[in-house]
Amino acid sequence: MELITILNRCHRFRGFVYQHAHFGADKKSIEVVVRPRKGSTAVCSRCHLPARGYDQLAVRRFEFIPLWGFFVFLLYAMRRVDCRRCGSVIVEEVPWGDGKRTLTKAYMLFLARWARRLSWKETAEAFRTSWERVFDAVEHVVTWGLEHRTLGQIDAIGVDEIQYSKGHKYLTLVYQIDIGVTRLLWVGKERTIESFQAFFAAMGQEVISKICFVCSDMWEPYLKLIRERCSEALHILDRFHIVSNMNKALDKVRAEETGCMKREGRDPILKKSRWLLLKRSENLKDEQQFRLRDLLRYNLKTVRAYLLKEAFQQLWDYNSPAWAGKLDEWCRQTMRSRIEPMKKIARSLRTHRELILNYFRAQKLLSSGVVEGLNNKAKVTMRKSYGFRTYRVLELALYHSLGKLPEPESTHDFF
Ligand SMILES: [Zn+2]
Repeated sequence: MELITILNRCHRFRGFVYQHAHFGADKKSIEVVVRPRKGSTAVCSRCHLPARGYDQLAVRRFEFIPLWGFFVFLLYAMRRVDCRRCGSVIVEEVPWGDGKRTLTKAYMLFLARWARRLSWKETAEAFRTSWERVFDAVEHVVTWGLEHRTLGQIDAIGVDEIQYSKGHKYLTLVYQIDIGVTRLLWVGKERTIESFQAFFAAMGQEVISKICFVCSDMWEPYLKLIRERCSEALHILDRFHIVSNMNKALDKVRAEETGCMKREGRDPILKKSRWLLLKRSENLKDEQQFRLRDLLRYNLKTVRAYLLKEAFQQLWDYNSPAWAGKLDEWCRQTMRSRIEPMKKIARSLRTHRELILNYFRAQKLLSSGVVEGLNNKAKVTMRKSYGFRTYRVLELALYHSLGKLPEPESTHDFF
């Protein structure tokens, strides 16, 4: 069986012929010469319609999926057409390539699938290609996916932010969080009103007007735009964001008190207590439980802040409307605690009381914990080494792993 026969079986295109295959000069690659079928017409790459031939350019190399340890290249001299519709001489469009990219579409889809399982660097190493080519592959597949995805009816969205680099560089992420359909809808630079506005523009009024629930944290630019753009939707401040803020406050109290005790030369009893205090107590191992119980005997600000956090966690077990009263009581108690970071939380909970109560009003209609789960996945995606942590790289990586985007059609299932 010849290589050409295999190619005709898995990667055949109308109007083109595989002429012959030979080893490249380095003996490490196989080159396959492709030519237009006699009498076939070239297609204009601007209007995507057949047009009159004009001339032919020098041979271009398109990298195909490697075979048995050999690199494979398709060699083809691109034609140019004199397109009357476009009114100029334009290079033709070939069905196996995407514009100026050097990889074939089939190889890009192949690499992009691996880049979802491995980091981009590992993918490049495994297939002896470069990080830049993996980037190209993912960019091609994501761009196609975004152009061809169906938004459909979206009932619920969750808005979140992620810090992606030192010095307060943030991304805004918007997820669809319908029961049964959860996916990343949009990624934007920064967490400003302007950046979030781009989300509404991208989705279009038709989709936005049908959204019934919006989950977000207490970040003011988000709150303001949600009030304006989704005025009919029920806006929910969800548990995950509030608890995560409370953990930050508790951690601040602990860090300050640890420093203070050190300066005063007292026993370092708070040493290594960070995760004991931040984890939910039911997730601690026996030995940690023991250390925690020991720690709680001390009269420390950190301990009082911890107990307030635990009391707050328990509030979520109550059913509405009892919850509202419990929340108010918790806020009163915290305001008397003289622990400033916790008081700050209580003040903000009072300000946003109605939005928090909406959590209970909508609880049964949303898949709970979904924003938290997606947010964790996004962080894992970002932690994987992507070589360059630029905005574009992260944007592509996030869409690629969380967007549930459709994939370009392929002539064969290359696994
Ligand atoms: Zn044209």
